[in-house]
Amino acid sequence: MLREQYDVVVIGAGPGGSVAARELAQKGWTVLLLEKRERIGYPVRCGEASTNLSDLESYGPIDEDCIETIINGIYIYGPNGVNIEVPKPGTGIMLNREKFDPMLAHLAENDGVELVTLARVDSVGGIEGKGSGEFRTVRIVEGNGPTEKVSEVRAKMVISAEGVEARIGRSLGIPCLQKPTMTCTGVDIQVEGLLTKPDYLTFWQGHDFINDGYIWSFPKQKSNVTNFGAGFLFGGKHQKNILETTQEWLDKLFPGSKVNKVVGGLVPVSSTLQSYTLDRFALVGDAAHHTNPLTGGGIAAAMRAGRYCANTVHQGLERGELSAAFLKTYEKECYKRFGKTHDFEFKFRKFLLHLNREEQVGLYKVLQGFALSGYKKTAFLKTPIQTAKYLAKFAKFKG
Ligand SMILES: Cc1cc2nc3c(=O)[nH]c(=O)nc-3n(C[C@H](O)[C@H](O)[C@H](O)COP(=O)(O)OP(=O)(O)OC[C@H]3O[C@@H](n4cnc5c(N)ncnc54)[C@H](O)[C@@H]3O)c2cc1C
Repeated sequence: MLREQYDVVVIGAGPGGSVAARELAQKGWTVLLLEKRERIGYPVRCGEASTNLSDLESYGPIDEDCIETIINGIYIYGPNGVNIEVPKPGTGIMLNREKFDPMLAHLAENDGVELVTLARVDSVGGIEGKGSGEFRTVRIVEGNGPTEKVSEVRAKMVISAEGVEARIGRSLGIPCLQKPTMTCTGVDIQVEGLLTKPDYLTFWQGHDFINDGYIWSFPKQKSNVTNFGAGFLFGGKHQKNILETTQEWLDKLFPGSKVNKVVGGLVPVSSTLQSYTLDRFALVGDAAHHTNPLTGGGIAAAMRAGRYCANTVHQGLERGELSAAFLKTYEKECYKRFGKTHDFEFKFRKFLLHLNREEQVGLYKVLQGFALSGYKKTAFLKTPIQTAKYLAKFAKFKG
């Protein structure tokens, strides 16, 4: 039985929503976390590669079962055979999101969050009440079919971590609609066995492969499977759809692979939205386009954003001040911690796509030298003219 009123209602029990909900409950606020799916995290629509373990453990304790592989480096197959190896012990992990997403939600529940699954938020109303009594009404549809039940609760604050679709955000007028040129469509094919180096993330990128995206091979050691996938810009000029393209590359690179399952979805790669807070309302994670615009990775960013949002909302609840102006603190924190880097990476991605094959090969050679030197900046002194040329071109590039 739901209460009439909560301090905070969180929409969506993905990584962003569960972290935000848990951190607010830990601070003593009443929190309702609503998830439209019956089974949290299922089906997984993700390559499942994420940030390093120590970063992740700050949200922990993380069950051993959720971690498939410790990643010790990255290998990139570039154009014209210019490949780049980036060894870095512990640089990331491969998750098992079928286990990880429910675990995060259960950590939240253990800390006092009221979690309801098969509960879809249908709408969020405008501001009602006055002063410290202000609230928003959240309309919830629980169950489905003949057992469907509609109810309403009041919330002093609504956090929407509803993922890429962002229907609620859009219904309140936030421009979170995915523009085709800023959206990546991706397919992940789970294949039996480990296709590439078992502790590396492997990528194929550039004119010889998929220029406006990339192909990936991510090893899940414990399950002895590989997440092989591809993504490219939605509005690109591809003759075939992403599923056909991914399957073709799988057949070409690893003929005879045994496919377990195929999933697909959209990734916002526009860099963070300009504004994603309203009075007593904020977006978190994919809904706010927090995804990394170069890699398409969004798990870590959603969790960080969930944490920063919870911090600001906690302060706001204490002061009785949850206006859009106050919630800008949250947006600023996200910008400082990852948004600025994402803007740079957004520009870099567009720059990379804009280079012709010859220019791209030259740039990969410069980056290859840097990687081979063990990332010493002095490596650039070996290719001073090339390095200066690309730096000048990048500085002038407007996108
Ligand atoms: C093919 C593919 C591969 C990817 N690979 C990677 C990768 O390797 N690494 C990486 O870091 N990222 C990857 N991503 C991106 C990553 O999956 C997302 O960035 C991440 O899941 C975002 O987390 P989130 O909490 O914002 O949203 P989500 O994980 O999408 O969670 C949103 C939740 O909200 C629920 N919901 C939505 N609307 C409502 C509603 N109205 N009421 C109640 N509940 C609702 C949904 O059911 C869902 O559970 C990939 C994405 C795709 C499509």
